[in-house]
Amino acid sequence: MAWRFAPASELVLDWRSEGSGTSPLVTMDGYKGTRSAELKTIPPIVPGRTPPPVLPDHNFRKGFRIIMSVVNQPLILGENLSFDPFPRQCPDTASATILIVGGGVTGLINAWVLLDRGYHVTIVSKEWASFTDQQRLTSQIAGALWEFPPAVCGQHTDILSLKKSKHWCMVAYDIWAAIASNPSLAGLAGVQMRASNFFFPCPIEELPAQHHKMEEIAASGVHGFSRSADSIHKHGIDPRYGAMDAYEHLAPVIDTDRCMEWLMLLVQSKGAKFHRENITGDLFSQEQELRHRFSADVILNCTGLSALSLAGDKTCYPLRGALIRVVNDGKDFPKVESSLAITADAAQDNEIVFIVPRNDNILLIGGVAQPGRWDLDLTLESPEIKRMRARAEAFLPSLKHAQVDPEYPVAQGLRPAREKNIRVERELRTRTMDLHGEPTEEPSRIIHDYGHGGSGWSLSFGCAADVANLVEDVLHNLPASTIKLQRKTAVEDVRIPASSDQRLKDVPIRARL
Ligand SMILES: Cc1cc2nc3c(=O)[nH]c(=O)nc-3n(C[C@H](O)[C@H](O)[C@H](O)COP(=O)(O)OP(=O)(O)OC[C@H]3O[C@@H](n4cnc5c(N)ncnc54)[C@H](O)[C@@H]3O)c2cc1C
Repeated sequence: MAWRFAPASELVLDWRSEGSGTSPLVTMDGYKGTRSAELKTIPPIVPGRTPPPVLPDHNFRKGFRIIMSVVNQPLILGENLSFDPFPRQCPDTASATILIVGGGVTGLINAWVLLDRGYHVTIVSKEWASFTDQQRLTSQIAGALWEFPPAVCGQHTDILSLKKSKHWCMVAYDIWAAIASNPSLAGLAGVQMRASNFFFPCPIEELPAQHHKMEEIAASGVHGFSRSADSIHKHGIDPRYGAMDAYEHLAPVIDTDRCMEWLMLLVQSKGAKFHRENITGDLFSQEQELRHRFSADVILNCTGLSALSLAGDKTCYPLRGALIRVVNDGKDFPKVESSLAITADAAQDNEIVFIVPRNDNILLIGGVAQPGRWDLDLTLESPEIKRMRARAEAFLPSLKHAQVDPEYPVAQGLRPAREKNIRVERELRTRTMDLHGEPTEEPSRIIHDYGHGGSGWSLSFGCAADVANLVEDVLHNLPASTIKLQRKTAVEDVRIPASSDQRLKDVPIRARL
């Protein structure tokens, strides 16, 4: 546990330690970024969803001002997230401004969450979703099948990131499912719940990792889970390809072009400002300039693969992917209504089968996962695309009759991968400031949300919920800490060195949680 002095001019929370401590009052004052200058209670507990805040049992002396981490606020539809074209909580002149860099799915979903929490939001992006022949955003290229991690095009390695992803994906699952359950909204957003089938070359019990994953999925809260090898026959799959066992569940399938358009309109109507600009170089080195130029209290980096330079993160790398688009109108072959997949780790030679209905008319056939490949020059004649198609046809023979979409036969893009997987974390570099003649480490006000690899849509809302909590930490001027399995919910322990007693009378203490 660390602590340090903070200047009195910074935001402070005044925790009054009388009483049992179960409902402390905190005041926010003296900082432009706070959302109100009035007395505020810790956010309400949502039964069954929010763990009660852990409050310190030792007494701070009355009148000491400490800064504590804000309570973890889950995303709750209707409470702090809404589909309405206006923000759930309206910002005012005292509300903080968040500058989001990146207009892909990550940037837009974060914008939505933050707008509904009452912040001003500006999104700066070098490119926006487009609907022409030009290369589209990676977020548009995605198959956008919701998957429980590790995903089909996996490459997930880091245990911490994987564990967090299992939570993030379920947050996103519930919200995508809620969108899909409302017919008019589902149509506008292009989100459907469809059966998602996974096939295995032997009884799943013989593949311990897959068996464990299946058990986790069955217990995760997904809808419609069932395990049966009958689906091999039901879907017309050739068992000779190597399909012997299978399970299925309902999963969100997103028409990314439609959804990106809907998300852009939604966040714009909730108040987001859009600005086109290519930001070059490390965000940290231009943090003050960007904050000044956009009047921003916090910067959120959602630039996907560009985090390589914008976060100075050398562990980012492209995971090239491609999908063949075929017409799925039921004329050339029986219409495929469900997703059908063999995951990379269960497939022979790491060759993935990934068949996903994009919408009512187009079927996506994948997949390719090529680490370190930057070029986007694949065509129907490229050897890996031919192999991919041959695999899909061997697996689902009816696809031999499929016709490619003449206008858009191959969609290809670079999944924004990262060696240690997803980064939902504050910038850890600090600046040395001179405060009262003492050099003090000042935390950065940048937050990162990048490196989602093949799971940006699957994890979207889950990551955004964590980002919103990190935003609160930044605004409370707490020091940054590395990504953790579980955020602490309140002050756990603050040690006050005896020798500092005299100074503590005048200055607030900042507690690291
Ligand atoms: C073939 C393929 C299949 C996939 N299938 C799935 C799937 O089934 N399910 C799933 O969940 N995911 C899937 N994905 C992954 C998904 O597409 C990504 O995880 C997701 O798009 C990441 O979103 P993002 O917003 O973080 O990044 P991006 O979509 O790359 O957006 C980054 C944004 O940042 C902007 N930007 C970048 N650099 C700068 C800069 N210097 N200055 C200003 N702005 C900048 C860009 O213009 C863009 O707007 C797939 C990807 C591919 C390629």
